[in-house]
Amino acid sequence: MISDRLRRTGGNKKAEARAHAARLREQGIRILSLDIGEPDFITPAVIRNAAKQALDEGFTHYTPTEGMKELRTAIAKKLRSENELSYTPEEIIITAGAKQAISNAIFSICNPGDEVIIPTPCWDSYPQMVKLAGAIPVSVPLSPESHFYPTVEGIKEKITSKTKCLLLNTPHNPTGVVYPRELLASIGQLAVDYDFYIISDEIYEYLSYERKCVSIGSLNPAIKAHTITINGFSKSYAMTGWRLGYAAGPQEIISAMKVFQSYTTSNANSIAQEAAITALDSAHDEVSHMVSAFKERRDFIQHELLSAGLSHFANPEGTFYIWADVSQYFGRSWDGHLIENSDDLATYLLEKAHVSVNGGSPFQSKTHIRISYSVSMNDLKAALQQIKEALAALH
Ligand code: PLP
Repeated sequence: MISDRLRRTGGNKKAEARAHAARLREQGIRILSLDIGEPDFITPAVIRNAAKQALDEGFTHYTPTEGMKELRTAIAKKLRSENELSYTPEEIIITAGAKQAISNAIFSICNPGDEVIIPTPCWDSYPQMVKLAGAIPVSVPLSPESHFYPTVEGIKEKITSKTKCLLLNTPHNPTGVVYPRELLASIGQLAVDYDFYIISDEIYEYLSYERKCVSIGSLNPAIKAHTITINGFSKSYAMTGWRLGYAAGPQEIISAMKVFQSYTTSNANSIAQEAAITALDSAHDEVSHMVSAFKERRDFIQHELLSAGLSHFANPEGTFYIWADVSQYFGRSWDGHLIENSDDLATYLLEKAHVSVNGGSPFQSKTHIRISYSVSMNDLKAALQQIKEALAALH
């Protein structure tokens, strides 16, 4: 009954782990969630009020498939002033989240059998979107030796005549690293030399604590011509539930994405679009406040993990994730269960510490767990204390 296309995804690993946590909660156990991929803050009041007003004014109809001109104009202004990227509103499409922007882009440029290079570990959706489009994900392993940055040599090794694009994500989920400008320039040059596209997912743009995140398309016009820039409102403005993102890129691709979207979902939510104009215009202070809170938690968790003995983690320069190596615990047992990989350790932490973190397999790793610090400082403190005690018990 189910299509081969969907079968190829192999289901959703993260959903299985969430179901396990839900079962424990049903037994009355309080589980602290450090596996969350969204800001714990609610959307700032100024944005919520703009949505209420749009609703009261009856802004409840279809918008153009590619999104309201006023919002695309505001995004063009933002990209110009903050990212040194010059796009016209016609080179921008509004989507139901960055996720839809990325999958629409993949569906719009890839033929069956085309190859898409993905630095790995990666956000679990990337390879699955590629497979759903009938294309082939090709992984470039990221390692601690190169600070979890993709290397030019590593990418070059994977380029073939079938390479259609590279999925780039900075700040990076799950490692939390932010790619330096020079690295982006060399990767961009590869795209120009070998003529493939870069889908540049910049959804965590504002969550970069040490330096400003660089948009690869801003580096020169040739790189820009090979880049589809993706961003959205979920992480920057705590608007995950509103489902609003966008893509900016060469006119031909954006037009193709518009055709694709016209036959699948049509326009993104009209009220969310209206509120997003206010977000871009009037929520700077609220965004700064959230970013400072994340940075404070990042500093805290970094310090605490070192004292918990989890000292091997990627430099958490951005996002709200820590990517920690837990291989030192492999071979240990608890209640007759052998810990053989990072999923096993995540299960152990769930059962014994009552803290949910992500095991590595959804991100294509056996050695690392992803810990999200998108929770209140109180919960973070309690969770780390419980993790420390559980890890100490394994020694
Ligand atoms: N890109 C990355 C790397 C993400 O981690 C996520 C969400 O977790 C998204 C895109 C999806 O963002 P949106 O909520 O805008 O669809």
